[in-house]
Amino acid sequence: MTETKEIKPDRETKEKTKVGNYFVSNYPPFSFWNESDIPCVDSMLNSPSPGTEPLGIYYHVPFCRKRCHFCYFRVYTDKNSNDVRRYLSATMKELKNYADASYLQGRKPKFVYFGGGTPSYLSAQQLTDLTDQMKSIIPWDEAEEVTFECEPGTLTEKKLEAIKNFGVTRLSLGVENFDDHILDINGRAHRSGEVFKAYEFARKLGFENINIDLIAGMLEETDENWSACIDRTLELEPDCVTIYQMEVPFNTTIYKNMKQEGKLSAPVAEWPKKRQWVSEAFARLEEAGYTITSTCTAVKNPATTKFIYRDRLWAGADMIALGVASFGHLGGIHYQNLTHFDQYCEAMESDSPIIRRALMTTEEERFIREFILQWKIGKVSRSYFDKKFKINVSERYDKLFKRWKKAGDLVENGDELMLSRDALLRVDSMLHDLFLPQHQDSRYV
Ligand code: SF4
Repeated sequence: MTETKEIKPDRETKEKTKVGNYFVSNYPPFSFWNESDIPCVDSMLNSPSPGTEPLGIYYHVPFCRKRCHFCYFRVYTDKNSNDVRRYLSATMKELKNYADASYLQGRKPKFVYFGGGTPSYLSAQQLTDLTDQMKSIIPWDEAEEVTFECEPGTLTEKKLEAIKNFGVTRLSLGVENFDDHILDINGRAHRSGEVFKAYEFARKLGFENINIDLIAGMLEETDENWSACIDRTLELEPDCVTIYQMEVPFNTTIYKNMKQEGKLSAPVAEWPKKRQWVSEAFARLEEAGYTITSTCTAVKNPATTKFIYRDRLWAGADMIALGVASFGHLGGIHYQNLTHFDQYCEAMESDSPIIRRALMTTEEERFIREFILQWKIGKVSRSYFDKKFKINVSERYDKLFKRWKKAGDLVENGDELMLSRDALLRVDSMLHDLFLPQHQDSRYV
């Protein structure tokens, strides 16, 4: 194997899409999570239950039909049915261990999230058996939301029926784009015909909340095509539309190709162009009656269409992580499971530790985590942070907020601090200013 050099970000071309994670999804950054904090997770699990504190479950399905060129998740495209069976039983053993922990006694999940990978890669029977087992270990009867991520090409009417029957309330379709050439060139496994078919089945079955994921700035995206993608989205009238701006993290095929060709910038649109596409989509969605509810989401009816997983997690809820490479959060401790399939399964089978890294956060870090994540909704409540953390955010960030106000990015509205639309679309590039000094300029890996 030839060793290739890592490409260093080019600081002169700020608006180009350079390699690395752009979006802030947690805090402190993953590079600060470590092995020495792993025992804290066990101590927390052995401590008394906090009773009614909100709890969620994240279940990671690491299988996909094909690896998309922009994907940086831990996914496998080469596993057979024995591997899948092995994985499912390892995760059930993991859930049983949690169910026995004193910290989780008397607690039921308020939300359940099946993410991946591709949860819909599993068969209807596998999914039914899996969720029956999960519910028998920790009942879901108090769950306010069960989200399930799907790759449209894996869905049949029968599978969607099973998904509906085991209690999914929020069905999330990874559409990404409606153009077959763009889907192809970006390595997606599905085509647009499968999207329309799956959507029709899902609507017929009466799912409460159907979300469509799109990505602005996939390889070869154009103004015309993006506009056509918005047309198709509006025709479908989903309850929620989530639009990501394309980033190119290190662990992607796009980056591997860049390294081979010695390129510094990814062959995707620059950040201002991607923001313009999201802005156009938001404007057209608003015209059609949607409400913008975060830096990347628009919902048809905000009174009835919620995203409880996001809102609970961003307000500090506990979340059990199940499966390989899964991320969890318990009693202020972040953790991630082992990141290789065999390692994870072997560890579960031999009753060995399965956590790869953890971080016992301080009260101040927990405050910053919630504060930065809630900015992604576009507004924060001062009284919330005052009450929960005894921190006056206006005083603490006085200088920064003055700067944001001067630039037209921040508006005060009573208790609320709100971002302008323009700032909302680039909020991830602003959040680093809220980090503690030791966490500035760190990598999100
Ligand atoms: S479907 Fe999702 S998880 Fe699977 S390879 Fe594509 S981007 Fe990654």
